[in-house]
Order: sequence, then structure tokens, then C-alpha cells
Amino acid sequence: MPEPMPDERIAKIKAHLAYADEDGRTMGDIYARELLAEVERLRQEAANLNATIALVGSSLKVVGEHTETITAQRDQLMTLVRDLADPDECWFDHHGGCQAHGYLNLGPGELCPHAEAKELLATIDKTKAPGT
Ligand SMILES: [Zn+2]
Repeated sequence: MPEPMPDERIAKIKAHLAYADEDGRTMGDIYARELLAEVERLRQEAANLNATIALVGSSLKVVGEHTETITAQRDQLMTLVRDLADPDECWFDHHGGCQAHGYLNLGPGELCPHAEAKELLATIDKTKAPGT
């Protein structure tokens, strides 16, 4: 990345152009004007990028706060589900209903909610990073 043009140098170029305007346009004057315009464009671009970076930073902060809230709620729900899920295994009647937990009308392939809750908790426990 090139060094930014020092303000002192820009001021010298502007002073030259103010003087040069009285004498007409040389190639050097035209180049100097283009250079100043490019510097101004790049400064504006940098200002826009800085504004974008600030916006992204504040958005990330909001996302982080929401993530903390959602994580706390997830942990609270997991604790509740862990307490509510019956540790006893399901046992099924000949119609496929879970007699242990009273879910007698389970469809083919449908899990008893107690079994499903325990499976989900096990999956989350396995994938949950420590401290999250
Ligand atoms: Zn069951």
C-alpha cells in the first residue's frame, strides 16, 4: 500500500496550481490537478471504508449481544428439557405407541418426544463447544 500523500505536499501542489492558473495550463498543471482529484477521491473512499468498518463493528456488537441472549436461552431450555425428559426408556406396544410415556399414537418412524428430547440433548452436548 503506498504511503499517503502528506498534507504539506498537497498544500504545495495547490499553491503551485493557484499560481499556475494565472499562466495557463501546462502538462504539469494538468497532471497536478488530476493527482489532487485522485487524492481527494481516495480520501473519500477511505472515509467511506472507515464508515463501513464502523458500521460492521457496531453490527457485530449487536449480533454478539443477541448471540449471548440466545445462548443463555438455549442453555435454560436445555436444562428444562433435561429435567422434563423421563430418564426411563420408551417401551412400545404392538401398535408402535410408547406405553412408558403415554404417546400411543406415534406414526411410523416417529419418535416418542422423550426419546427425541434425549437425542437432541445428546447431539447438542456433543457439538457444543466448551463455554458456549
Ligand atoms: Zn417414550
